[in-house]
Amino acid sequence: MQVAVISGKGGTGKSSITAALASLSQNIVLVDCDVDASNLYLLFNSTHEEEYAFVGGEKAVIDYNRCTHCGLCMVYCRFDAIVTENGKIKIKEVFCDGCHLCSRICPEKAIAMIEEKNSKYFAGSFRHGKMVYGRLAPGEENTGLLVNKVREKAKQIAKFQRIETILLDGPPGIGCPVMSTITGVDKLLLVTEPSLSGIHDMERMLAVAKHFNIETKIIINKYDLHTELSEQIEQKAKAWDATVIAKIPYEPLFVKAMIQQQSIVEFAPDSPSARIIASIYDTVLLH
Ligand code: SF4
Ligand code: SF4
Repeated sequence: MQVAVISGKGGTGKSSITAALASLSQNIVLVDCDVDASNLYLLFNSTHEEEYAFVGGEKAVIDYNRCTHCGLCMVYCRFDAIVTENGKIKIKEVFCDGCHLCSRICPEKAIAMIEEKNSKYFAGSFRHGKMVYGRLAPGEENTGLLVNKVREKAKQIAKFQRIETILLDGPPGIGCPVMSTITGVDKLLLVTEPSLSGIHDMERMLAVAKHFNIETKIIINKYDLHTELSEQIEQKAKAWDATVIAKIPYEPLFVKAMIQQQSIVEFAPDSPSARIIASIYDTVLLH
């Protein structure tokens, strides 16, 4: 079974809740799909057993032995990635989209396209099973493709190790990497919080989940910070045929647990939040 934890908006406590769910299992494949800012490997201090390069795209590179600084490539680059500095043509790597146009039009054949291989993905172990995560290098692209690679690796490990549950920690937003995280999963856990942006992003996420026809359960984190908005969340969820399965109170122990490199379930197993998360685990991951 594959369960993805998503939030739409960042800062809802999604990753802390995912970590707590993972630490209730004795053998799980935990996948950090937030390849722009993966952090679960830090929390659990996972081991690196396998490392893979990810080719995220291509960048243009000038051969100055051939370039005559005619400026033609600069005129045609629609990403403003080619500039002149002190009369010399230069490519600003972070702006280059890898479209190949400059390499095709250069009369001197002075531009080559080079694969970007700085992004990586890793597989290893942590104290509750196996962990897979990706790390997109700064300025590199194809985040969704890297999420797919990370998920493929997780599926291979689950099959080889006969592990039944894959738990995916999704990235924030509703863009391409989120779509790559949720396609084909069995269940979604949507973590939201009582704020206007939390409600807005929850509804956007529910629309996506409905489109993909994925069973979705909602968790309201820090619900007691604004009970009226929490009630609104429950009403909106009903309108989308989704169920709020848990309301977690604001809990400073989450931060204390993280400082100790533990999930709240490990750090304070008898706290109200840890108990609520245990009931979520029973409801969603054991059934
Ligand atoms: S088109 Fe080719 S020769 Fe002209 S400036 Fe660009 S790289 Fe140099
Ligand atoms: S590959 Fe495309 S985006 Fe990159 S420098 Fe050349 S023309 Fe510009």
